[in-house]
Amino acid sequence: MMRLPRFRYFAPRALDEAARILAGEGPEAALVAGGTDLFPNMKRRQQTPTRVIGLRGVSGIRGVRAAERGLAIGAMTSLTDLERSAEVRAAWPALSRAASLISTPPLRNMGTLGGNLCLDTRCNYWDQNYEWRKGIDFCLKKDGQVCWVAPGSPRCWAVASSDTAPVLCAIGAEITLVSKNGTRVQKVEQLFHDDGIAYLTKRPDEILTEIRLPDPTGWRASYWKLRRRGSFDFPVLGVAAAARLDESGVVKEARIFLTGVGSRPHAADAAAEKLVGHPIDDARAIAEAVDAAARLAKPLDNTDFMLGWRKEMARHYLAGALSELARAQL
Ligand SMILES: Cc1cc2nc3c(=O)[nH]c(=O)nc-3n(C[C@H](O)[C@H](O)[C@H](O)COP(=O)(O)OP(=O)(O)OC[C@H]3O[C@@H](n4cnc5c(N)ncnc54)[C@H](O)[C@@H]3O)c2cc1C
Ligand code: SF4
Repeated sequence: MMRLPRFRYFAPRALDEAARILAGEGPEAALVAGGTDLFPNMKRRQQTPTRVIGLRGVSGIRGVRAAERGLAIGAMTSLTDLERSAEVRAAWPALSRAASLISTPPLRNMGTLGGNLCLDTRCNYWDQNYEWRKGIDFCLKKDGQVCWVAPGSPRCWAVASSDTAPVLCAIGAEITLVSKNGTRVQKVEQLFHDDGIAYLTKRPDEILTEIRLPDPTGWRASYWKLRRRGSFDFPVLGVAAAARLDESGVVKEARIFLTGVGSRPHAADAAAEKLVGHPIDDARAIAEAVDAAARLAKPLDNTDFMLGWRKEMARHYLAGALSELARAQL
């Protein structure tokens, strides 16, 4: 049985108290929300904080509420509550769908939206217990010198695996980050670095408190997820697409993001451009967008399935997600 290492637990009741503790405890501290990512990682000694700050008791950062021009979702909102929220389903059903595809019902009851956005990157050489990783002399991500996926590489290629992140990027959502020194708001897509180790741009002393969904008027969005088991599994490919249409169904604006094929959700801007100015169901525009986006899908041999098949599936999932945008009810 894998056991958690010893750590000191803090249970702040207010956001400013949590921010103060986080700043005071420094790099030895980690935040925990639902713990469905952090605690398994600690058991495998992938993350080894000696201080853990629980956000469960912090007031004011849970739930869905109407906000000016859109919806505000507290970072501590569980994935179950997110999936079931009538407001989210009505505004951005693709986000409800992405949440519903994450892991299993018990894990969705515990796991939160904030934790999902800050989810660790994944790799077959990384998501193993301590003894397994010691057996290969670890790897670049922690304690080792070599990346076993790309041995000559100076960087880690572990893969972004959050299901909600690509959808939130595609719909143009924003996040609020709070620290002892103040508050800042940024686009969700700015939260991620293309690096398997330093995969977040968020400072270690910052707490993600809120996710703002924009006004959905005129927009449609879709999310397609490829995984081995339909019951539960991380995405080996996720395709999120969003488009704003005029009254005649012509695309005025579009955004496409791919996950599971790099260390951050990748924006397929050139592909999205191919849709603009054309009817949403224009087969030729969709085919051109698929061609352009598929070029971005360069999976490495560090997740599930054969490389070539995953690359081929990127085309099919892109076509599916884009064609789905043409349906009236998503
Ligand atoms: C068997 C299994 C299957 C899974 N399948 C999927 C899947 O298919 N898709 C998927 O996306 N995920 C999957 N997950 C991962 C995980 O369950 C979810 O991503 C979940 O949403 C994580 O949320 P959490 O609240 O439990 O995060 P935690 O484990 O509490 O935290 C995760 C990370 O985020 C940081 N963090 C948490 N909240 C905040 C905050 N408010 N501000 C700043 N930092 C914060 C923590 O410090 C930690 O580094 C799976 C996990 C398991 C065990
Ligand atoms: S991509 Fe390379 S460095 Fe990163 S976790 Fe995998 S083996 Fe380690």
